[in-house]
Amino acid sequence: MIKNKTMTEIPNKFTSELTSILGKKYVYAEPEKLEAYNFDGTEFRYLPGLVVEPETTEQISQLMKLSSNYRIPVIPRGAGTGVTGGALAIHGGVILSLLRMDKILEIDDISMVAKVQPGVINFEFQEAVKEKGLYYPPDPASYETSSIGGNIAEDAGGPHCFKYGTTRDYILGLEIVLADGTIMKTGVQTRKGVVGFDLTNLIIGSEGTLAIVTEAILRLIPLPGKTITLLTSFPDILTLTGSLSAITRNRIVPAALEFLDSNCVNIVRDKIPIKIPTNFSTLLIIDLDGEGNELERQIEVVGNICIDNGASDVLIADSSQKRKGLWDVRRKFREIIKENTNFKRGEDVTVPIRQIPALIQNCEKIARKHGFVNYNYGHLGDGNVHVNLTHQEKNVQIVQKSELAAREIFELSVSLGGTISGEHGIGITKKDFLDPDQRSGSRQNRFVHLVPCCSTIAWQHHHQNRTSHSVLA
Ligand SMILES: Cc1cc2nc3c(=O)[nH]c(=O)nc-3n(C[C@H](O)[C@H](O)[C@H](O)COP(=O)(O)OP(=O)(O)OC[C@H]3O[C@@H](n4cnc5c(N)ncnc54)[C@H](O)[C@@H]3O)c2cc1C
Repeated sequence: MIKNKTMTEIPNKFTSELTSILGKKYVYAEPEKLEAYNFDGTEFRYLPGLVVEPETTEQISQLMKLSSNYRIPVIPRGAGTGVTGGALAIHGGVILSLLRMDKILEIDDISMVAKVQPGVINFEFQEAVKEKGLYYPPDPASYETSSIGGNIAEDAGGPHCFKYGTTRDYILGLEIVLADGTIMKTGVQTRKGVVGFDLTNLIIGSEGTLAIVTEAILRLIPLPGKTITLLTSFPDILTLTGSLSAITRNRIVPAALEFLDSNCVNIVRDKIPIKIPTNFSTLLIIDLDGEGNELERQIEVVGNICIDNGASDVLIADSSQKRKGLWDVRRKFREIIKENTNFKRGEDVTVPIRQIPALIQNCEKIARKHGFVNYNYGHLGDGNVHVNLTHQEKNVQIVQKSELAAREIFELSVSLGGTISGEHGIGITKKDFLDPDQRSGSRQNRFVHLVPCCSTIAWQHHHQNRTSHSVLA
């Protein structure tokens, strides 16, 4: 259902000036083209007034100057897989598709850095660096389709972020275009660099609200020797989280640690290559990587810890085919839940690891209270739990109840020392729920205080004969 709140009027003069910047071929106003850009990974649909596909940073700069003169909103868009509506044209305006800027500009295997345009697809980049024996770890479950620009804008995470960190940890520098068309470079091309304020980190995770990312310098690491996957099941989430501290106490950091709760397990029992006893209801997927004896040690120690902590059995998926089968189930879990229900609302709250059992037990209670069936799965090692509320009916009352339940889940997460989103961002779907996070003094709140503070510093430097630009850059 299309539901624009307001529709920004686009004057003909604006369209013709834009056409002279980008060429007729890359400015779309035909209804079928606009419809092709009215969606993202949410169920919402908003029709843009125009869609443009620039090829260069200079074109984006001119587009931004023009749009700010005419006060027309511009919405940057990568692959449109975002799940919080950030790439949707809620007020119409211009969708700026970055998918034509899809070149890997450089992979330097000596310095272990790469330079890419924002429209490069994560999977294609991973494959390209793998050929040079290098590794780019950020791997959102959408990695086969999502863009590096979108990953940067959302600070995307993924299963392998437990050991290797999120997108933020792999961005050294950016080229960005500001709302007034200013082109700016942030950060460095080196693995170290401390000069000036860290504007790169300000842009990462800013969801396209501060600037358009037009180029990125990415940090790479050597490709791990070999990766194997262990699959095991536990009686409950408490015993499962108990194993985690035992694993790290043994100086082992698994490359990935993903769990599925009992409701999830029930719908995938026949899709996974392990027989799970009926009284073992929580599934754990563990990736271990390394070389030779050290990898063997990890497998033995982790396997024993799981069994000692009450796991049923430990299955080793050592061939790439078996691993792929397992990870496909995990990566497609969002879709698998959707296939089994008529209504689904998914949140990605994050809590300190020791609070995961409390989070899950209380989410189940909240879901039950509001009449939902609750599916929990996600990145155990990061405390990042995908909490899903589902219902066999879909109507206005169910949607309203899900809003109440979501608010309680957000309050719960924050009260446990967590946050309302670990990787999906705020977008349009969570902006009315920011207050619990803000009350807790988290990043959003500190940002509000920081902005006036930054302006004061910039002003002072400016008046000490330094330009505000050099201070901020
Ligand atoms: C099946 C599925 C699984 C997913 N799994 C994960 C997961 O495991 N981890 C995770 O973190 N996310 C996950 N996501 C969410 C989504 O894939 C990520 O947020 C991804 O980073 C979005 O990339 P995109 O290219 O699709 O961006 P889009 O959806 O096009 O845009 C997302 C946001 O980024 C902004 N943006 C896009 N490009 C730029 C740019 N160049 N400059 C400035 N702003 C820009 C947009 O304005 C928007 O606000 C999943 C989504 C789906 C559908």
